[in-house]
Amino acid sequence: ESTSVTVLGLGLMGTALAETLVANGHATTVWNRSAAKADPLVAKGAVRAATAAEAITASPLVVVCLSVYENADEILTGDVLAGRTVVQLTNGTPRQARALAERVTGHGARYVDGGIMAVPQMIGGPASLILYSGDEEAFEARKDVLAALGSPRFLGIDPGLAPLFDLALLSAMYGMYAGFQQAVALVRSEKVQATAIEPMITAWLTATMGGFSEQARALDAGEFGTDVSSVATSQVAFPGLIETYLEQGVDPGWLLALRDLLDRAVAEGHGHDGMARLITLLEQPPA
Ligand code: NDP
Repeated sequence: ESTSVTVLGLGLMGTALAETLVANGHATTVWNRSAAKADPLVAKGAVRAATAAEAITASPLVVVCLSVYENADEILTGDVLAGRTVVQLTNGTPRQARALAERVTGHGARYVDGGIMAVPQMIGGPASLILYSGDEEAFEARKDVLAALGSPRFLGIDPGLAPLFDLALLSAMYGMYAGFQQAVALVRSEKVQATAIEPMITAWLTATMGGFSEQARALDAGEFGTDVSSVATSQVAFPGLIETYLEQGVDPGWLLALRDLLDRAVAEGHGHDGMARLITLLEQPPA
């Protein structure tokens, strides 16, 4: 079924969203601050609105994808919002999402926040995941249209949840990349090709990821005891690990932060606990 959709913001991501909506047969109205970015979309069948207010008026569903939340301040405002569903896919913080939800619903609109877990080339494809939170009824009513962009995953009625989970997943990704980059830098100090170790790292990370579910269960149960790989085991091994980097003339980078956390865990008497204990220490940073 075809639905009218408006897309505000035609950067790399907004363009990918609008193109996918057009390709899925939805009557798509677009607006961008720099009007020329709409040209290729208009050629494909989208309708260009002269102003943001005109674009909002054109459709019951308004998808927003700008650089930062502040960009929406002058755009998502006024009586034109009444009765529309605003789906904000701009990256921001939970606090920003909650504040915008309040403002937009104050104008009589329904608010859904979203976090895109994909790059523009993935939009509309099978690996595209989009996290949503906020007005559940409005989300359910528009879910079929939104599903064209990526697999929708609704997290709850608090609009802050989508950005919270988005940033959590990004944090996990950055940590994984940091680990990969450290490992490759270390072996390259002996002229080992990156492509020689990459498959080993990938297999190793895949195997060790099994530990996540164990840590999650331990944390939720508040039972930190372990008979394998305690905090103390890692803490004792870490100086040697750091020393190897220094010997090889490679920056130990983020491993120093992890060493400090392990030292703190042992100093606070958690040496016999499993690695899930580190999560509770992160939750209570030292003053
Ligand atoms: P771009 O830099 O390509 O586009 C930014 C968009 O914001 C443009 O449409 C730009 O308009 C508009 N904009 C910036 N400032 C203003 C303003 N003051 N008033 C009106 N419009 C403004 O960014 P992306 O499209 O890549 O990203 C958009 C959002 O999507 C970001 O929040 C990003 O974090 C998120 N995202 C992006 C991903 C990616 O891989 N690209 C992945 C996941 C999320 P103009 O053309 O006139 O400059």
